[in-house]
Amino acid sequence: MSYDRDNIFAKILRGEIPNDTVYEDDEVLAFRDISPQAPVHVLVIPKGEYVSLDDFTRDAPAEVVGRFFEKVSAIARQLGVDGDGYRAIANIGQNGGQLVPHFHVHICAGRPLGRMIARE
Ligand code: 5GP
Repeated sequence: MSYDRDNIFAKILRGEIPNDTVYEDDEVLAFRDISPQAPVHVLVIPKGEYVSLDDFTRDAPAEVVGRFFEKVSAIARQLGVDGDGYRAIANIGQNGGQLVPHFHVHICAGRPLGRMIARE
């Protein structure tokens, strides 16, 4: 699947849409989800153009992939949710429920999150 430069997270990365940033460096942006599903709901995205986890791990250099996931857990620690725990989710494609075609990891925390997968 080719990368759509008009997706909402690409617009956020270009500064065309505001966001509530919690962490940023030259490779990664983390910001609060506009429709939080938990008291803490942050999205962590690479600045590179990757549609999904699949593209990211296949096409990005291994060091970039490794640093990204180190930063996901570091951001969780920065948010103060590592003690009580949290859920890190990457939705991939149609059956995964991915709505925005720019790879992202959700950090959800702040209450017991219940079952891993809703029975819908
Ligand atoms: P997905 O279903 O693709 O894994 O998750 C996409 C997430 O992006 C959803 O949780 C949704 O609430 C969030 N989202 C969609 N549009 C925006 C936006 O413009 N700003 C922010 N901060 N989050 C957004």
